[in-house]
Formats: sequence, C-alpha cells, structure tokens
Amino acid sequence: MPKSGFKSITVSENIYKKFFNIYEKRKNDLELKGITSFSGYLTSMMEEMMLKHEAFAKQAPFMEKISIDSDRVLVKDNKRNRIAEVILRNGELRCLLDEKIDCVHIGFVYSIPEVYIVLNKNGMKAPKSLH
Ligand SMILES: [Zn+2]
Repeated sequence: MPKSGFKSITVSENIYKKFFNIYEKRKNDLELKGITSFSGYLTSMMEEMMLKHEAFAKQAPFMEKISIDSDRVLVKDNKRNRIAEVILRNGELRCLLDEKIDCVHIGFVYSIPEVYIVLNKNGMKAPKSLH
C-alpha cells in the first residue's frame, strides 16, 4: 500500500526495466537536479511531458498523427492541408516539410507519448526545453 497522499500504478516489467535502466544511467545528472529516487524521476518526467502536452494542445486541433514508424512520424497539418514527415536522424527529429528541427510539427510529435516509446529505442535525445 502506498503511503497517504500517494497512489501506485502497475506497469509491465518491460516498461519498468526500460525506464529503470535510463534512470540508472542518468542517476548522477538527476541528483544535480534534486531527483534522488526512481519514483521522483518518473514524476518529473510526467510533469515535463504534461507541460509540453499543454503547450502544444493549442496546436492539436490542427494536427493529426497518421503513423509512427521506428524512425519516422507522419503528421497531417490541417491548417496548411499538408502532410509533414518528421524523421529521426542522428538522434534528432527533423521536419522534412519545413526543413527544420523546431517547427510546430516537431513540437506536436514530441507531445505524443508513444513517440517516446518507439523512438527511444533508436536513440532519440531528450528534447530541448520548449519554454
Ligand atoms: Zn514542420
């Protein structure tokens, strides 16, 4: 039972191991940020993701995810009525439509939680701060 004021969730062993490995590798960096436990690490990641999600929720009505491959995400831009192809190259996302690494499509792609799971395997770097 979690202590008062906390809730526990259940995740698959695979997911747990994946995140735990990342945590172990980044432990020293995280300690500098005041994160000293695995659950603290997950909490901070969730908070970070929520902020990004909120920031790009404004774009959401105009953006639609079409598909996610191991190194490519297709996004439909309903505002411009175009398909944006976002690829993973050298650990960085790049939008082929805009030839940019920081356009609205990239932001939208970073706001899709699945992207982290799919692209992490292929060495996607943590996104730059979007503030
Ligand atoms: Zn773009």
